[in-house]
Order: sequence, then structure tokens, then C-alpha cells
Amino acid sequence: MADDNDPKAPTDTPSHEHAVTQDADAWSVFVDANEYSILGFLQMCIERRFHLAVQERFRLETKLAETDYWMHTGVGGSPKMETQTHMEAPIYCYGQGARIMGWSAHGSKCGGFRPGTPDTEILKALKETLNRNAKRYPDARHLGLFAKEGEHAGDVEILVIQPDPVAAED
Ligand SMILES: [Zn+2]
Repeated sequence: MADDNDPKAPTDTPSHEHAVTQDADAWSVFVDANEYSILGFLQMCIERRFHLAVQERFRLETKLAETDYWMHTGVGGSPKMETQTHMEAPIYCYGQGARIMGWSAHGSKCGGFRPGTPDTEILKALKETLNRNAKRYPDARHLGLFAKEGEHAGDVEILVIQPDPVAAED
């Protein structure tokens, strides 16, 4: 009779601790660790030239996977998306657990701003929106992404900005 308690017995069979009950009809649940990873939210202009580059940079900065964040687009990007209607999406996603929130806009002509608006003005508007949103959603990490055309045709340059530190409220 073999000694089941022999400490030298082969242990090459990994022990799987499945959470399966003895009831054959019961559901078994296999926990996907990814379901517990942090979630994000990214808001941007609808502009075709920049949405891919903005997403790529957002993922690079946050380490989020493609399915780990909600996306919200509107004309003019975040500076033009502070109306009550536009705020439904970020409020919903924040409520659902979004804890990294990206706010963006772009220069090199944006249909959400009057013709001729300089990039510096749009960037300033984004910075102000970023600061307001950091206060609106205090439990999330926030970053701003400003996109513009690069030196060569098709190039996209993206500037990442951080919100100003939120002053402690008395
Ligand atoms: Zn735009």
C-alpha cells in the first residue's frame, strides 16, 4: 500500500483549486483577474486625424488595455463637453469605477472652436477643463492630452498635461 503522506512523492501535478461546487447543475465561476484591473475613461473630439493617436498615448500613459476604458467623443473635445448633457457619460463611468480619466482637445483647427482659434487658446481651455474635472471626480487620477499636427504630413504630436494640485478644502 502506497504511503500517500510520503513527502517525497512527485508533486508535478499542479493543484487547481476550482471554485466548483458538487452540484452538477450549479454555475461555476472562474475569476478573471483582469476584471479587477483599474478602469478608465477617455474623452476626446470626434476629429478623425487625432482619435487614434490620442487613444494610443492614453493607453501608454495609463497602461490600460483597449477594453479597460470607456470612450466619449464630442465636437471640440473636453473643453466643449462640460454641458449637463455631456456630463452624463463621465458621471456614469465614474460611478461604474473609472479611476483614470483622460480629457483631451486638439489644435491644428478644430470644428468645435471658432475658425482661427490659436492652438494656445485651445490648450488653455483644456487645462482649465482638466482642473475643473479633477475636482468633479476627486477619486480618479486625471490627465490631459492635447493633440496637434506634427512637422510632416500625417504626423501627430501629443502633449500630456497634469491638473494643478487640488488645494485642500477647509
Ligand atoms: Zn475637434
